[in-house]
Formats: sequence, C-alpha cells, structure tokens
Amino acid sequence: MIEPSQGGVNIVGAGLAGSLLAILLAKRGFKVTVYERRADPRGGVVDNGRSINLALAARGIRGLTLAGVFDRVMPLTIPMRGRMVHEFDGAAELQMYGVRPEEVIHSVSRADLNRVLIEAAAELPNVSFQFGQLCLGLAHDREVFEFRDETTGRISHCAAQPTIATDGAGSAVRDSLVAREVASVREEPLDHDYKQLTIPARDGKHVMDPNALHIWPRGGFMLIALPNLDGTFTATLFLARVGANSFEQLRNAGDVDGFFAREFPSARALIPGLMREWFEHPQGSLGTVYTRGWHMDGNVLLLGDAAHAIVPFHGQGMNCAFEDCAELMRMMDEHHHWSGLFEAFEHERRPNTDAIAKMALENYVEMREAVLDADYRRQKKEAEEREKQDPNVIPRYSVVMFHPELPYTAALQAR
Ligand SMILES: Cc1cc2nc3c(=O)[nH]c(=O)nc-3n(C[C@H](O)[C@H](O)[C@H](O)COP(=O)(O)OP(=O)(O)OC[C@H]3O[C@@H](n4cnc5c(N)ncnc54)[C@H](O)[C@@H]3O)c2cc1C
Repeated sequence: MIEPSQGGVNIVGAGLAGSLLAILLAKRGFKVTVYERRADPRGGVVDNGRSINLALAARGIRGLTLAGVFDRVMPLTIPMRGRMVHEFDGAAELQMYGVRPEEVIHSVSRADLNRVLIEAAAELPNVSFQFGQLCLGLAHDREVFEFRDETTGRISHCAAQPTIATDGAGSAVRDSLVAREVASVREEPLDHDYKQLTIPARDGKHVMDPNALHIWPRGGFMLIALPNLDGTFTATLFLARVGANSFEQLRNAGDVDGFFAREFPSARALIPGLMREWFEHPQGSLGTVYTRGWHMDGNVLLLGDAAHAIVPFHGQGMNCAFEDCAELMRMMDEHHHWSGLFEAFEHERRPNTDAIAKMALENYVEMREAVLDADYRRQKKEAEEREKQDPNVIPRYSVVMFHPELPYTAALQAR
C-alpha cells in the first residue's frame, strides 16, 4: 500500500475529477495541493464550462459514495427514469432506461456538483486549493510544473512528485508529456457541434415531465433536454458543423427560426429566448482523445478527460472520470510505489476507456436515429423481457449505466 508518509500529492485541475480525487486522497491521510486556473467557485464566480447539467449514473455514484459525499450531492439531483422521445408529429413516448425502479440516472448541475466537491475537499485539514493558477505544463528542462497566476501574471513552480493531472480534455500536462515523447495522443474531433438553450419554468414548475431525459431525434441530428432544480430545462442541439442541416446554414434569425419551426415545432414553442440565446451562446465542439502513455515514472499521471475525453452521448465522461478515481484508490492498496501504480492504472483502465469511447460514439446514432425505429423499439422490449427473466442477461445500456461492478469492456461485449 502507498502510505501518506511517502509524501504529498499535487493535483492540477479542480474540476469534477480533481476535486473528488482531492477528497479521496486526503481521507487516506495524504497532504493534497490542488492547482486550478479558475477563480474559487465558492466566491460566487460560476464558470459553467462546457455544459450546464450532466447525467450522473452508477459509476459516478460509486466514486461519490467512496468519498462519503453522495448524501450531499443527492439533494442536487433530479432522477430521470427514461428517455421521452418527441416525434415529428408532437407525440411523445417514454422509453424506460432500466427494468427496476432504482435504475434511473440523475440530472445534476455541473457548477453545483463541482462547488459541493470543492467545499467538501476544503473542509479537510490536509487539502489546500490554489485558485487562479494556470498550469503551463512541465518546465522544459526540469521536473517541475510551471504555473501563471491569472491575476498577477507571476510565475511559480511546484515539484512534479507525484502530480495527478485532471486538467480536462485540453490538458496542458498531457501536452508536456507529448512534448517529452512520454505520451502520444490522437484527437478525433466530431463533425457535429452543440449549442445550449433554455426551456424556462412556468410558475416555477417544469413545463414537461421532469423525470425524463427529453429527446427530439431527427435522424442526422437531435435536440435533448435535461431538467434543472429551478424548474428549467437545459436543451442541447447536436448538429453537423457544415453541410445540409448544419450550423453553417443557420446564419441569421430567419434561418434559425425556420429550422426550429420545421424540425422542432413543439420544442420551439418552449424556448422563448431562442433568438437571443442562439446568438449569445457559444457553439461548442466535441471529440474523442486517445492517449497512450498516461504517466511519467512515478511523477505524473493523467486521469479523467485529460487522459481520455469522449463524446457525451452515453453521458459517461464524468462517470468514467469518477470511476478512474475509485479504481486508483483500489489499486493504491495493491502497490508500494507510485511508478508501479501509475503503470498498472493505465494498463487496467485504457481498455475500458477505449470501450466507453466507442460506445459513446455509437450511442449518438442510437439517440438521434434508432430510437425512432420500430425494430429498435421491439428489440429493446425483448431485451427488457429477457433481463426480467434472467437478471444475468444484461443489455449493454444497463451494464454501462447501472452495473459498475462490471467493466466497460464487459458492456462492449453485451448487446
Ligand atoms: C456537452 C457535454 C455534455 C456532457 N454530459 C455529460 C453527462 O451527461 N454525463 C457525464 O458523465 N459526462 C458528461 N460530459 C463529460 C464531462 O463533462 C467530462 O467528462 C468531465 O467534466 C471530466 O471531468 P474532468 O475533471 O476530467 O475534467 P473537467 O471537469 O473538464 O475539469 C478540468 C479542470 O481543470 C481546469 N484546468 C484546465 N486547464 C488547466 C490548466 N492549464 N491549469 C489549471 N487548471 C486547468 C479546468 O478549469 C477545470 O476545472 C459532458 C460533456 C459535454 C461537453
């Protein structure tokens, strides 16, 4: 087992994985220093980052439970028991996610979740946060990380021993490992982008069933909406960047309004701020990051999106990052040196993160297209019946979302 007496741990990035990892390591007795480029979110400065809300499922819950924080997170969540499929003609049908009442996924605000995790970490005496510190990567000639204070511009350093990088999909630490030829990376951008819009509350209440993830599948593209605690929904349009039915074609208010009126008339009626939000909100990009070489000796480890960012269509990026944290803790009991631990971690986790990367890409087609198909619906019903009769025959979706005791590689084998 790796003991706290072997020294403290640095974490780069106080996002979802970094803040959870800080709690887990601190509870094991390690002195933890977390460096984050953003301002302290407890001061009321909220940077929503890439998405406003997220679906939390069993793998993520496992990590939160291990850290003893799930009870704090639970009140921030809304259970979603299935996907509500909105067809062209305005009809809506609920397709259940699981076969048991407890098989639900949970909508949670990214900002609230991150704040709660940072609060919980900061309560521990052996965790300190350094906000407003942009990591510039490893200094070119030394084993130290370089940081720039975002307010003063002052440069500082910390020893790279050991440092766990949870600085997200655009990881500066990963860039350093690539520059030193320790890691190689393949980034596969998706040719579809996304934009987030708001479905406001009416009299403080949700205007649609809050206990469902709403989808308007349209074949080549889709709109989805997840509920928020304040009665709103956050809707996300996923659409090709260029070509027929693409962001490129939606240049002015008339284009946008015409597109929504044609493709999503029922949703259009629920988004009164469409025109303003369309031109104010950024067009986000998506992609998969495949890295080989997640670690440098016992000094540096990439974890979460920094090692393996995926597209969001299975709602698993955060869940997988939380599972990384839980698995790292489990493996710490089996190793005596950071270098052996980091090597074994990549060895065990990469086949699983590759598996979820593949399933996440496949699930885009399922969400935007297959859910409309009569054959798909029949097969789904049959799979549910089989699972009810034999609980060991678990469909792929359920393995991913509800069975953290089975690895992603097992889900990939399931149908
Ligand atoms: C549109 C969209 C929807 C999504 N929906 C879901 C979902 O429903 N369910 C799900 O499980 N996942 C979802 N995800 C994926 C999820 O957001 C990520 O997988 C998750 O945030 C990864 O956590 P992380 O801690 O590795 O990275 P992040 O949460 O991105 O955290 C990285 C942190 O590092 C900081 N940082 C970055 N660079 C530096 C630097 N150079 N120096 C210092 N600090 C730095 C950032 O400010 C941030 O705080 C979605 C993603 C998108 C884009």
